[in-house]
Amino acid sequence: IAKPANQVASTITSQHLSDRVLEIQDAFEVSPTKLKQIVAHFVEELKKGLSAKGGNIPMIPVWVMDYPNGTETGDYLAIDLGGTNLRVVLVHLLGGQKFETEQEKYHLPKGMRTTRNRDELFEFIADCLEKFFYKLHPNGIEKGALLPLGFTFSYPASQTRIDTGVLQRWTKGFDIPNVEGEDVVPLLMDKINEKKLPIKVVALINDTAGALVASRYTDPTTEMGLIFGTGVNGAYYDRVGNIEKLKGKLLPDITDDSPMLINCEYGSFDNEHESLPRTKYDILIDEQSPRPGQQAFEKMTAGYYLGELIRLILVELYEEKQVFQKYSKDSEQIKLLYTPYLLDTSFLAEIEGDQDLENFPEVVRLFQEFLKIEPTLDERRLSRALSEIIGNRSARLSVCGIGAACTKMNIKKCHCAADGSVFHKYPKFPERAADSLADIFGWKEENIHPRNYPIQIVPSQDGSGVGAAVIAALAHARQAKGLS
Ligand code: BGC
Ligand code: MG
Repeated sequence: IAKPANQVASTITSQHLSDRVLEIQDAFEVSPTKLKQIVAHFVEELKKGLSAKGGNIPMIPVWVMDYPNGTETGDYLAIDLGGTNLRVVLVHLLGGQKFETEQEKYHLPKGMRTTRNRDELFEFIADCLEKFFYKLHPNGIEKGALLPLGFTFSYPASQTRIDTGVLQRWTKGFDIPNVEGEDVVPLLMDKINEKKLPIKVVALINDTAGALVASRYTDPTTEMGLIFGTGVNGAYYDRVGNIEKLKGKLLPDITDDSPMLINCEYGSFDNEHESLPRTKYDILIDEQSPRPGQQAFEKMTAGYYLGELIRLILVELYEEKQVFQKYSKDSEQIKLLYTPYLLDTSFLAEIEGDQDLENFPEVVRLFQEFLKIEPTLDERRLSRALSEIIGNRSARLSVCGIGAACTKMNIKKCHCAADGSVFHKYPKFPERAADSLADIFGWKEENIHPRNYPIQIVPSQDGSGVGAAVIAALAHARQAKGLS
C-alpha cells in the first residue's frame, strides 16, 4: 500500500478523495532509480546537442570564452526582458570582486507578450532605456561617447558572435510574430538609433549565462548558472574541443582547450518523450500549449506551468464530483476554475507557505483571491497535498540538468548559482533540490550530511545586471586584445 504523500494528505477525511491523492502522488513520484535513468539519458542528449548533427537540446555556444576573475571594471548598462517587467540597470564594476548597481523596473504593458506587432516590443524597450538614460544623464553624455549595453534575452537565440542572437523560438508564453528567425539585436538597435540614444548593444546574454558569470565574478568555484523560474535552463563552460559543431568555423587563435560558455536550453530535454515520467496532466498541458512537442522538460518543472498542473487536477476532481460541489458548472467560481493559466506559481508556493495546518488561513485567502471559492477543510488539505506533490516533482526533475552537466564534465564538487521565482518563492525548493541531487549521486549511501553535499546550489548574484555587465566587459577585453 502506498504511503500518504505527507502529513496533510493523511488527514483528508473523504476516503475517495484521499485515495485519489495517493494515485496522483504515485503518478508524480520520481524514484532515485528513475532519476538516475533520466540523468543518463540527459548526458547523452547534452552531447548530441554539441555534435555536428545537433540534437533536441540546442547547446548554444554564446562566445563567452574567458572566465571572469573579479578584476573586470567599467560602467555598463544592462537590460533584462522578463515575463512581467523590463529591468534596466547601470552597473559599475569596481574590480576587486566589487560592484554597484542602480536600477529601474518598468512594467510590461498588458498583452505585450503576445502583441501582433513586434515593433511595439522593441519600441517599449527603447522608451524605457530613454527614460533611464535621461534620469542618469539629464544633459546627455560627452559627444561621440557610447554606453555599452548587455541585453539579457532569456529565450533560445543562436549566436554566431557575442553581439548577435537569432531567436529560435519563443518560450514561456511569449508569442510575437516576425521575431523567430530574426536577429533581435538590430531590431533593438534600430529603435535605439531612432531615439538618437548614445547606447550600443555589445552583448546578448542568456539569463543562465548571466547568473554563471555574475556569480563567478565573486565566487570562482561556480560551475553552473541555473534558472528555476518561469522557464528552466542551465549554462556551464565546456571546452571548444568538445563542441564538434563548431569545427572548421573558428579562427586560429581559438584552440581546443579554450573555454566556451554553453547556454544549454535544456528546457527542451526529452521532447521525444523517452525518459521523463509524464502524467496525463503533463500531456494535456503540452497538447493545449501554443507549441506542442516543445520544451518537454520545462513544461514539467517550470513556474509557468506549475499552477496549470494543479488547476487541471482540480478540474478533474470537480468533474469527478470530489470537490467544490456547492458550485454549479455555470457559476462564476467554476468558470474561473476552467480558465487556463489562471493560477500562477505564487498560488502554489504560498499554499505551501501556510504554517497553520489546522485551518489553513492562507489557503482560504488564496482560493478566495484567485477563484472566489470557499474551500472546505478537506479541499484545503487536498490543495496543500497537491502543492507539495507538484513542487516536489518539479525540484526533483529540475536538478537532472545539474546532474547531467556535472556528470558530462566530470565535476565532483562545485557551486551552482541559481535564480528564478521557483527557486526563491517555493519554501522547500532548495532542500528538495539538494535531496534529489543526493539521490542522483548516491551521497546518502555515503552518509554525507546535506550541509556537506559536494555540489551545492546557491543563490546567484544579480545575473541580468552584473552578469550582463561582466560579459560585456569580457567581450570588450577580448576585442581590445584583437581576439575573435
Ligand atoms: C528559455 C531560456 C531561459 C529559461 C529561463 C526558457 O524558456 O528558453 O532561454 O534561460 O527559460 O528563463
Ligand atoms: Mg528572468
